[in-house]
Amino acid sequence: MKASVDADLCQGHARCWEICPEVFELDEEGHGFVPTPDVPVELEQKVRDAAANCPERAISVS
Ligand code: SF4
Repeated sequence: MKASVDADLCQGHARCWEICPEVFELDEEGHGFVPTPDVPVELEQKVRDAAANCPERAISVS
């Protein structure tokens, strides 16, 4: 699985980081980003949960 954050959609609610800090980080403005897009298998469900809880639907998984 690969994960990414659309910076144009992200409004910085930090839900992604709260749910899965192993994959999502926050920049200095509180916007989420994914420093390492390849998601380990054991974190896939947490990334799906983060994507489902992003109010802006800014997280993509593939
Ligand atoms: S939950 Fe969504 S809107 Fe909030 S920081 Fe993460 S990607 Fe951005």
